[in-house]
Amino acid sequence: MKLANLHGRATLVVDQGTIDVEKASEGRFSADTGVLVGQLEQVRSWFDEQHPDVTESTTLERVMRDSGLGPVIAQPGQVFAIGLNYRTHAKEMALTLPTKPMVFTKFPSSVAGANASFSIVSAKTDWESELVVVFAKRGRHLALDEALTYVAGYCVGQDLSDRELQLLGSPAQFSLGKSYENFAPFGPWLTTIDEIPDPNKLAISCEVNGVRYQDSNTSDMVFSVAQLVSYLSSVVEIRPGDIMYTGSPHGVGQGQKPPRFLQAGDVLETTIEGLGSLRNVGVARDVLP
Ligand code: ZN
Repeated sequence: MKLANLHGRATLVVDQGTIDVEKASEGRFSADTGVLVGQLEQVRSWFDEQHPDVTESTTLERVMRDSGLGPVIAQPGQVFAIGLNYRTHAKEMALTLPTKPMVFTKFPSSVAGANASFSIVSAKTDWESELVVVFAKRGRHLALDEALTYVAGYCVGQDLSDRELQLLGSPAQFSLGKSYENFAPFGPWLTTIDEIPDPNKLAISCEVNGVRYQDSNTSDMVFSVAQLVSYLSSVVEIRPGDIMYTGSPHGVGQGQKPPRFLQAGDVLETTIEGLGSLRNVGVARDVLP
């Protein structure tokens, strides 16, 4: 299943169009994706039994570019992010490969929908294409072999970063430098885990104005998705609706020779195999719609 937050309402996206979950289920299920994400098995049973009609007839492509797409989870309780989780990216940033996952947060007020615009906040505004995990269940101390059963599904994500603020001082300011308004677009919808049997086998890419700068595969992660979930849960409680950015492959702006940062008017297109794509446009500071 594909679950979107379309015009603020939980919406299933199927090949024939979109289904408003609350309306089609006559109120049995919530219109809030943050609630539904913990009930996906019930939603699936209802869907398979009832075969609800589409609310609006359209195509996947058109939904993917809809400006009404909000963040798949509007108010995630926790937004985890992992740094330096691809070997080639650590190398291009001239940073040492971590021996344990390097965890920071993007503050929850930075989340945005698939096609949100973002501000060019400094001369070093940069892109990072990332697989985003959405959690379904509450849990602690998860073993490696059960970790993925706590995942609701996956999204495409952009970990937009202001390298000036991020790398200001020592220790660095990862969380703040990556939390400006709309610096955490993810979507276009959540694809449930049954459609993605192995999250570490997905092509991932990012283009700026049609030029491909990132072209990799989630198989290059230093720590697999299951390892990240298990490790995180050994410290913090995972809760339904929490999300996790899993790190960027190489090919970010900072890693270009010479570095290439984002400017107003640049169009960023981030794609992950089987999950769809995001289209985010950089705008001059203070002119966000
Ligand atoms: Zn990142």
